[in-house]
Amino acid sequence: MNEKLAIDGGTPVRSETLPYGRQAIDADDIAAVTEVLQSGWLTTGPKVAEFEEALAACCGTSHAVAVSNGTAALHAAMYAVGVGPGDEVIVPTMTFAATANGAAYRGAAPVFADVDPATLLIDPASVEAKLTQRTKAIIAVDYAGQPCDYAALRAIAESRGVVLLDDACHALGGRDADGRAVGSLGELNTFSFHPVKPITTGEGGAITTDSAAHAAAMRTFRNHGITTDFRQREQTGGWFYEMVDLGQNYRLSDLQCALGITQLAKLPGWVARRQQIARRYDEAFAGVDAMTTLTTRPGVEHAYHLFMIQLKLDALRVDRAAVFKALRAEGIGVNVHYIPVHLHPFYRERFGTGAGDCLVAEAAYERLITLPVYPTMTDDDADDVIRAVSKVLAAYRR
Ligand SMILES: *Cc1c(COP(=O)(O)O)cnc(C)c1O
Repeated sequence: MNEKLAIDGGTPVRSETLPYGRQAIDADDIAAVTEVLQSGWLTTGPKVAEFEEALAACCGTSHAVAVSNGTAALHAAMYAVGVGPGDEVIVPTMTFAATANGAAYRGAAPVFADVDPATLLIDPASVEAKLTQRTKAIIAVDYAGQPCDYAALRAIAESRGVVLLDDACHALGGRDADGRAVGSLGELNTFSFHPVKPITTGEGGAITTDSAAHAAAMRTFRNHGITTDFRQREQTGGWFYEMVDLGQNYRLSDLQCALGITQLAKLPGWVARRQQIARRYDEAFAGVDAMTTLTTRPGVEHAYHLFMIQLKLDALRVDRAAVFKALRAEGIGVNVHYIPVHLHPFYRERFGTGAGDCLVAEAAYERLITLPVYPTMTDDDADDVIRAVSKVLAAYRR
């Protein structure tokens, strides 16, 4: 006999919903922010450079540029590499819309590549198929926290003379199979510090790069297109500044950077904890039918921003929406990452994309469910997730 599902009036696995992701804020984070509040600098002070140096060290790059969020990081990166009207930028469709929006802000056309069915990472063969004379850049996305196949992507980018970027918003703390840290895998690499991401500054973002020219361009871009910031002017006692291009106010405050510094120090432990939870899921779910988990590429350090399952719909009596609702009723804060970006009305209407453009991602989307994973989750929390998934899939088995 199957257990009665909560959605049918049974007892839920959890009385209080477990979120799919959440930040961890400790006493040292609070002390660091408080200290900035009591100092003279609330924004564009010493904590910005300190955070940038710590992030560059973590990623193994020469430069990091802090900006106000991950979307601003993508916009600034597109600016730095000179993406503009008439250009095409290849992005995977299985991502958050912001990956593509950066190119659209610059008047360029995002072109959507399909993904590998086992990993849902950008498929290098699809990238090759979508290259044209207009392709200026490729933005890989380390979906769920797993580094993409950079050996293959770099070979394509180099042979065609296009820039390879990494939207690494999911993957801070991860590593490629060759040991290189996420943040150093693309020519420019973008991060988000939204509360559900690997570390948080409330809202925040950054770009890492080895290019001094790109870093300088992005520092100007984040500050209205002005060449020197307020602090540099005060230090030199001068009043003169020049706006040399149309930039944005994309600065990250000292308050936020102070939080970023204390958060970053805890990243390695948090990634290890995310990996433990993922292992627990993988072991348990090997024995559950009607679903599969994603494949991890050999030798990579997966940062597990997200943990996905894919339903085997032909083994179930219901669709993904019904499984999703039943899991929510059991107190599991499931989510779906992502609706393929080329299916959003803006992209359909402005760029003529539509169903059929990326068949692997479209089929995967119908089967995807994101399960909770975050560092402060306990083993008992993870076991509740496992119990709820097993219970719901057993009840809906064909
Ligand atoms: C979160 C995220 C972004 C956007 O970051 P924000 O800080 O929310 O602007 C971009 N790309 C990916 C892959 C993300 O997960």
